[in-house]
Amino acid sequence: MDVASATSFYGEIHVIVGPMFAGKTTALLRRVRAETEMGRSVAVIKSDKDNRYGLNSIVTHDGEKMSCWAMADLLTFKTKLGFDAYSKLDVIGIDEAQFFGDLYDFCRMAADYDGKTLIVAGLDGDYLRKSFGSMLDIIPLADSVTKLTASCELCGKKAFFTLRKTGDTQKELIGGADIYMPVCRQHYVSGQVVIEAARNVLESQQIQEDVYLEAAPLSSQLVPS
Ligand SMILES: [Zn+2]
Repeated sequence: MDVASATSFYGEIHVIVGPMFAGKTTALLRRVRAETEMGRSVAVIKSDKDNRYGLNSIVTHDGEKMSCWAMADLLTFKTKLGFDAYSKLDVIGIDEAQFFGDLYDFCRMAADYDGKTLIVAGLDGDYLRKSFGSMLDIIPLADSVTKLTASCELCGKKAFFTLRKTGDTQKELIGGADIYMPVCRQHYVSGQVVIEAARNVLESQQIQEDVYLEAAPLSSQLVPS
């Protein structure tokens, strides 16, 4: 038995987290390429929710590109790829992993029973700095966890958080630099205050407009022109 097969019965799970624009996908692809160069068989999966760069490829913010499987969930990957092809895989990269509800079960099975090495990249927190999807659930399963940082868009210090620049409040809002920016703690806190204030102003203007529109026909009756 050679070294590769002797070490491949049980797999590994390596997790890469951080805010947007922290180079998570770049780190994932670098890692996957290194595995390929060592002669290991690799597949990369991403969520089909993010189709910003086309469905069948992963593109980093620096423009690096790799072909991938766009999936709605992970547990059907084995069937979609085919059992034979799946059994020959050594390494599975998963990008935007926060979007997969079955992340925990897939990673556990793939590493514990199928001997796969998993490299999993995703957001640890959402724009409110709350746990995003199942991303944090897999940390107890992991061999290693790396938290990457970006540069604060406002001061250049290390950025740990993703600030949403718009007033949208749904948890999953796919977008890039038009909607999000990486920020340090200070600018996350002050940014949230600014955005909250802007939202309140917009909402109160909306209320005034609604009141004005409702009042308009009445006032036109009462006030002679
Ligand atoms: Zn800052």
